[in-house]
Amino acid sequence: MKKILCFLMAAVLILCCGCTNSEQPDNRPAEDLLEEYLKNIESFETPVREYGKTASRILLEGNLMAGILYPETEIEALNEAVSQWVEKTVSYYLEETDTIKNQSEPAELTVAYDSCVYSSKYVSIKMSGTYIAEYMAHPVDITKTFNADIETGKLLSLNDILIEGKIKTVEKTVIKKAGVKSSDVDKKLLDNWFLTKDGLEITLNRGEYLPMSSGTKTVFFPTDELKGILKGTREETSGTQEETTKAEETPQTSQSETVPEKEDNNDKTVISPNKPMIALTFDDGPSAHTERLLDIFEKYGGKGTFFVLGNLIKGRESTLKRISNQGHEIGNHSWNHRQFTKLDEKDLTDQIMMTRAKILDVTGKDCLIVRPPYGACNDDVRAIGKELGVSYINWSVDTLDWKSKNAKAVYNETMKNVKDGAIILYHDLHKTTVDAMEKIIPELINQGYQLVTVTQLLTYQGQSLEAGKMYYKQSKSTK
Ligand code: ZN
Repeated sequence: MKKILCFLMAAVLILCCGCTNSEQPDNRPAEDLLEEYLKNIESFETPVREYGKTASRILLEGNLMAGILYPETEIEALNEAVSQWVEKTVSYYLEETDTIKNQSEPAELTVAYDSCVYSSKYVSIKMSGTYIAEYMAHPVDITKTFNADIETGKLLSLNDILIEGKIKTVEKTVIKKAGVKSSDVDKKLLDNWFLTKDGLEITLNRGEYLPMSSGTKTVFFPTDELKGILKGTREETSGTQEETTKAEETPQTSQSETVPEKEDNNDKTVISPNKPMIALTFDDGPSAHTERLLDIFEKYGGKGTFFVLGNLIKGRESTLKRISNQGHEIGNHSWNHRQFTKLDEKDLTDQIMMTRAKILDVTGKDCLIVRPPYGACNDDVRAIGKELGVSYINWSVDTLDWKSKNAKAVYNETMKNVKDGAIILYHDLHKTTVDAMEKIIPELINQGYQLVTVTQLLTYQGQSLEAGKMYYKQSKSTK
């Protein structure tokens, strides 16, 4: 990733220095840069989510902004362990930030997850993220893993999946490869293990077993090296060509490419400029609930705007295509929900352009509207937006659906605050929000509102989308 970033920055510099005749066509600003990101799309860090459905714990409380994505699975013990850890982590950082003073902005805790199935037998979950606060010199890296046996539903320690006595071999290798002093070794050294079809990963968090300056360290054992270590595998013996592992047969939970790509956005709906109109906007998807939301729109009519996270698109390409094909609007909500006002130019450019490239790659359409996570914007963010040719869109009504997680409350908030010209904020990551939409969408249509996309709404208000400009202020509390 780092290499790609350097490369992309070089591309930015070349563009900015004017070494090339960088006259860009009006319809696709920053086109050369976008091409570079498209070329490197395979290297974007995308989570692997082979198991569980995504749930979230998002809050803005006191001095802390937290966004944690975690899996909900069919294994109860795993769900319990993960949600306990999420709550413990949130309370820890709430307490940590409670005492800090003179911060111009809240601290930010961002955690996401990967989930892998190994040989149809084991599930491995890796929660990873960062905590960033003004008072700290470096961000804190966070890694925590959970493992379970799919059949028995029991949590697993590394020792449970290794051939007897082999834990020592693994330990020795980790100590040697990571450079841990033997006096620092304790029983928890191998606690953060993550097993994929490619191999076994053991993570030592920054400062845990190594000096802070060494950062977070990961020791990786490729599948080949696990032969004779992992249960169910045998060491290669000369002469017999025995099959040693079924690792390659990990089932792929591929959800993409199953929906026929029919274009049905030759919309017959005519927007009447004299009738009230509103824009329903959905952040933090695409999720497991987005398809149902699209069904509701299909049933009752109207269009929405979906501000998607770039790193959630993989595995849900067909959902993204469906959003686009049904004539809804797709917006950019960053790659992994980082707060824009805390990023330097390079990281902010990555957040916007990686997502833009991913959307273009999947839907064939370039997307120039961006909703900053938490609605956070400042002059620097606006300046970079201008360079990249994107406009920022916040909202006028916040339904606090992420906080209430209650369909009735989401419905009530909507009905209480809706008026002509409103841009309403929801999150299609939550089942309860989509539950609420079953009632909200037909009700708004009954009340005579035209449900239009953000761009349609602004256009009918006589506003043209300008690069680097923020449309709509955020209301007080949100994510
Ligand atoms: Zn968001």
